[in-house]
Amino acid sequence: MTSEHVDVLIVGAGLSGIGAACHLQDECPDKTYAILESRDVIGGTWDLFRYPGVRSDSDMFTLGYRFRPWKDSQAIADGPAIRSYIRDTAREYGVEERIRFHHRVVSADWSSEDARWTVTAQRSDTGETVRLTCPWLSVCSGYYRYDEGFRPQFPGEGRFEGELIHPQHWPEDFDATGQRIVVIGSGATAVTLVPSLAPEAEHVTMMQRTPSYILSLPGRDPLAQLLRDKLPAKVAYPIVRWKNVLLSTLLYQFSRRRPAAARKLIRRLTAKQLPAGFDVDTHFNPPYDPWDQRLCLVPDGDLFRSLRRGEASIVTDRIATFTEKGIELESGEHLDADVIVTATGLNLLPMGGMTLCLDGVPVDLSETVSYKGMMISGVPNFSMVIGYTNASWTLKADLVNGYVCRLLNHLDAEGYVSATPVAPPEGADLPFLDLASGYVQRSLAQLPKQGRRKPWRLHQNYLRDMQLMRRGPLDDEGMTFQRSTAAAATDRAVA
Ligand SMILES: Cc1cc2nc3c(=O)[nH]c(=O)nc-3n(C[C@H](O)[C@H](O)[C@H](O)COP(=O)(O)OP(=O)(O)OC[C@H]3O[C@@H](n4cnc5c(N)ncnc54)[C@H](O)[C@@H]3O)c2cc1C
Repeated sequence: MTSEHVDVLIVGAGLSGIGAACHLQDECPDKTYAILESRDVIGGTWDLFRYPGVRSDSDMFTLGYRFRPWKDSQAIADGPAIRSYIRDTAREYGVEERIRFHHRVVSADWSSEDARWTVTAQRSDTGETVRLTCPWLSVCSGYYRYDEGFRPQFPGEGRFEGELIHPQHWPEDFDATGQRIVVIGSGATAVTLVPSLAPEAEHVTMMQRTPSYILSLPGRDPLAQLLRDKLPAKVAYPIVRWKNVLLSTLLYQFSRRRPAAARKLIRRLTAKQLPAGFDVDTHFNPPYDPWDQRLCLVPDGDLFRSLRRGEASIVTDRIATFTEKGIELESGEHLDADVIVTATGLNLLPMGGMTLCLDGVPVDLSETVSYKGMMISGVPNFSMVIGYTNASWTLKADLVNGYVCRLLNHLDAEGYVSATPVAPPEGADLPFLDLASGYVQRSLAQLPKQGRRKPWRLHQNYLRDMQLMRRGPLDDEGMTFQRSTAAAATDRAVA
């Protein structure tokens, strides 16, 4: 058993954890820190997912860090390019050597007496248990289970004689050539897989129960292309980034305020890209409003191109049963398949599965209230990064990681030992994530609630949140600060 002390402990070496480390180095250069990562590589999501065509579905000028330009004019990037961007950032900022790979954090226990966390990790390579202590714990573990995607049990699936694949565990040697492939699902993964598999496959069928809203976006950003040769990246990047922040905010606000008009607009843009006579109203007309669930973006309309070429088709129906040769639908139709891909989503997992205890008492996340979407009531010196669901993840991750540095500097300047959020006096009843998507709804009960006003409510609006997080006061109504360990214990008792 080893034990070591650092000022800040970061859990996870994905986009958020590497970002957190870079912020610390820039904004709190005197702090010592370490990153504990359960896998043996940097990159998180962008290393784990290896299915054909894996890519971002939000633009890289906002999915990239604010502090490090995305230099390509490719707006929608593939998995390997994003992985390289994260690794290069870690290398450039000297973060790599602070990462302890194979360390899966299982628990963190706050001691009021010492005003510090004791974090326990299990080493996946040696089986050893490792303990570190730190005054501040920053959890950047993403939001879903790494070992297993969401996979409903389908009737009769044991009968299927072909290959059954979940995109989270894509077989390295898979060859689509000449195969009849059915992709179950209608989310970002399904709409990425279909056009990627279609050119080699005999045919790809996207089998969906409920359609999604799908918008085509230019794969290359025209403004980025224009500015690329004229301005240095450090000048061009913020311009393109802000253009994209404003456009995506406008689209989101328009969709929420004028859902009928947004629905009509998306339908018109979709119909324009489909072959004549295509049944748009069955296959591209979701029963919910735009942005009740995440909108899918496809670069240069690649999904629509596959449909136009006849390489792919869409079926909107329900599965009656798997058969030896494919899927029988409730309508009676049979989809013949050599391969079935279950693009059925993720299993949400708050805090990478770790448990939190305060002086030995377990924290039940569902009983807590989130503060500025990044800390939780009653829990001192703790932050977590859960990015936006209606815009690029990194926009919020950057805000949270910057805010943590502001708080750390404030604690030092004022001689405090801890910062502990309190719940709003009137209580809180809003969900932490405002999305109707299955993976969110399945897991809301495990997450903190949000209050109805700031600072207990984040608006999922970068412009408003930026004001709150970069310029808003640190000592607002929702936060308490403790000067000594004794005061910390008393304050927590009333929180
Ligand atoms: C297929 C897919 C496509 C996506 N596309 C987009 C997109 O286009 N735009 C967008 O904004 N978002 C997208 N997302 C959301 C995406 O997860 C974020 O973009 C971003 O990668 C999250 O970064 P993260 O570092 O917070 O989490 P992750 O990328 O999940 O990384 C978390 C890291 O923490 C580690 N970890 C977890 N638990 C523990 C533990 N207990 N102990 C130690 N280490 C732990 C993991 O191994 C991992 O390395 C997508 C997600 C998926 C699954």
